[in-house]
Amino acid sequence: MGGGFTGLWAALLAAAEGSDVVLLEGERCGGAASGRNGGFADPSLTHGFENGLSRWPAEIDELDRLGDESFAAIRETIEARGIDAEWEEPGFIDVATREHELDDLAEAAVRAREHGASVTLLDRDAVRAEVDSPTYLGGLAWHDGGALVNPAKLAWGLRAAAIEDGVAVHEDTRVTAIREDGDELVLDCEGGARLRARRVVLATNAFTPLVRSIGRYVIPVYDYVLVTEPLDEERRAAIGWRGRQGLADSGNRFHYYRLTADDRILWGGFEAIYHWRNGLRPDLEENAEVFDLLAGNFEETFPQLEGLRFTHRWAGAIDTCSRFCVTFGTALGGKAAYAVGYTGLGVGASRFGAQVALDLVHGRDTERTRLELVRSRPIPFPPEPLRSAAVGITRRALIRADERRGRRGPWLKLLDRMGAGFDS
Ligand SMILES: Cc1cc2nc3c(=O)[nH]c(=O)nc-3n(C[C@H](O)[C@H](O)[C@H](O)COP(=O)(O)OP(=O)(O)OC[C@H]3O[C@@H](n4cnc5c(N)ncnc54)[C@H](O)[C@@H]3O)c2cc1C
Repeated sequence: MGGGFTGLWAALLAAAEGSDVVLLEGERCGGAASGRNGGFADPSLTHGFENGLSRWPAEIDELDRLGDESFAAIRETIEARGIDAEWEEPGFIDVATREHELDDLAEAAVRAREHGASVTLLDRDAVRAEVDSPTYLGGLAWHDGGALVNPAKLAWGLRAAAIEDGVAVHEDTRVTAIREDGDELVLDCEGGARLRARRVVLATNAFTPLVRSIGRYVIPVYDYVLVTEPLDEERRAAIGWRGRQGLADSGNRFHYYRLTADDRILWGGFEAIYHWRNGLRPDLEENAEVFDLLAGNFEETFPQLEGLRFTHRWAGAIDTCSRFCVTFGTALGGKAAYAVGYTGLGVGASRFGAQVALDLVHGRDTERTRLELVRSRPIPFPPEPLRSAAVGITRRALIRADERRGRRGPWLKLLDRMGAGFDS
């Protein structure tokens, strides 16, 4: 159920195991987060090394290895299936735009090196030699793994590969109810169609879930993206960026940005907006205030590109989980399993998520299902009206921390102690 990356990978992997697979997608495959994201494919399964290290220190090296293996398998599939997904591996740079972020990056560099990552700490001149912005004070370059991809093209390519492998893909087929019937599950679809299945992978991510537990762990948080017109040679020269790295700034509220294959700049992030009762509707994608804010921040970052037009903009729901990374579970007597809540870093991790969901739904004991990452559960979000209140308080606390040299107030410290938070 669900034709984003998780559902598409699950379908491909299950078909390769010899299962008879049907994929039900409520709209179009890749039409949700999977086709709307920034295209940063990070090998991390844990929303970055730092988050993984803080939560699962004993298994971080295993998680890193599994993440690398999964990342390599994505690359191999793209090559083997001839998917034109504009995949490139230029590495990533985290940039510091405030003094206190320099210390955070330096500490992150030490921890990353201890675990074998290849990183370079860049001072102001070094980072500006890579990409020129007057706002940069320093940076941390990650050389290992990490790709940029055109996510919609990847989703469409995976869909085509799944069909080629015998998966029956039904789009515009929203499942409205799912229940047990003996050894099987019965899925009712909008329009009256009904499907019986022995096993179901629920890959519906931030959407209104059909099993209750998912709704406790994942909330949809809107994230906004602008894309410029293609840069001409002169503008290209004005910012450097010959290495084409994927960039992100380092505040609690951060931008992620990159060059596309045709040399536009995709500029997203910063604001993360939650709507009452998990609001998820097309009209929430239009938010002039946020798009203006993003445009203003872009001009501040690259004043030398003054006059460059934005030609595209969109929004999508980030699959936010309180532990900032994918969570798993089973439902309906173990005949259904889910992998949801990647919190804005699911392009790379979703293949692994799909593998785990397949392991769980078949009751397999594997290296993956033995991981604490898979066995543990995140702190649930409270129900409304507390949910909106908690998200609002956290969001304001994060903004304040950015304004106060990164100092986290009592609310954020409490969340840190509980191992919970709010991110995009
Ligand atoms: C703006 C934005 C930027 C992002 N940037 C990045 C990034 O740069 N790097 C990164 O790694 N991640 C990023 N992410 C996150 C990433 O896109 C997601 O983690 C990932 O795509 C999740 O894939 P998925 O298949 O689990 O979910 P989705 O892509 O959301 O797919 C779920 C699918 O389930 C379908 N569905 C839901 N309910 C039903 C139902 N009842 N019946 C049938 N079908 C149903 C939906 O229509 C949808 O197609 C970003 C997300 C957004 C929104």
